[in-house]
Amino acid sequence: MSNSDQLQRVMFEHADIRSVMAGLEQSYQQAIAKHQYPQLINILLGEMMAAVSLLSATLKFDGRLMLQAQSNNQVKVLMAECNHQRDLRAIARFDGKLPQQAEFCELLKGGQLVITIEPDQGQRYQGVVPLEGSRLSECLEAYFSLSEQLPTQIHLVADEQRAAGFLLQVMPASGDSTADWEHFSSLAATLSDAELLSLDNTTILHRLFHQEDCRLYEADTLQFNCDCSRQRTSDALRAMSREELEQIVQEEGSVDVNCQFCNELYQFDMADIAMLFADSANIKGSDQVH
Ligand SMILES: [Zn+2]
Repeated sequence: MSNSDQLQRVMFEHADIRSVMAGLEQSYQQAIAKHQYPQLINILLGEMMAAVSLLSATLKFDGRLMLQAQSNNQVKVLMAECNHQRDLRAIARFDGKLPQQAEFCELLKGGQLVITIEPDQGQRYQGVVPLEGSRLSECLEAYFSLSEQLPTQIHLVADEQRAAGFLLQVMPASGDSTADWEHFSSLAATLSDAELLSLDNTTILHRLFHQEDCRLYEADTLQFNCDCSRQRTSDALRAMSREELEQIVQEEGSVDVNCQFCNELYQFDMADIAMLFADSANIKGSDQVH
């Protein structure tokens, strides 16, 4: 397949067109191994993980990119995230027994698909991705042509073992690239799901563009990595009152917080709760000094 657990950008020497290829194997398997999702969910999450990997390659700053689908149907939430270090994580929530097979847009009918870009520094950006066509790739293509005015072709595929993605896009701020786009996108359109899953990057590029001058950049490694921590969990708990938290400890023995992405368990007892609010008192105190 596309090189395993690698994200690789492609430059074409004589056209204002860029391409990105993502291949996920360990990273994908580790993310879904944390849960016992049915096959349909695993496949959709694989496509979403491939998608956020591809899109993260187009970001120019440190931060994270999230793709979140929500609906009131059986599938409640599908979410995948990738940051500039190419750490990936994903999660799903659903009700009842799902069909063996169903299209992405059908499952989310009446729901919403949102892309969120969260720079480490600066403003968070959110865009609504139209639920257009049947597959996630079609929704994202529509998003880029509508919101960003960038002609884009996206291929996404997953089979529970591997996930792969391919993106072809007109470079932002390029001149009139209509003729180039028509040429390159018609070549790329011949890429099949089976080829994307089974062939390595060099072979795929050769099959699609053997007459074009193209260059593969050095690849980034993709990995499953949840960046949850006791500190982050503490910060989230401070949004509740000390009394509320102490009451939970009295009733349940501890405040237990499970990370939804990786299942890591963070436990807080009475002493931890006291510490949590002692810390925040110190922070407030130091604020007043400055
Ligand atoms: Zn976690």
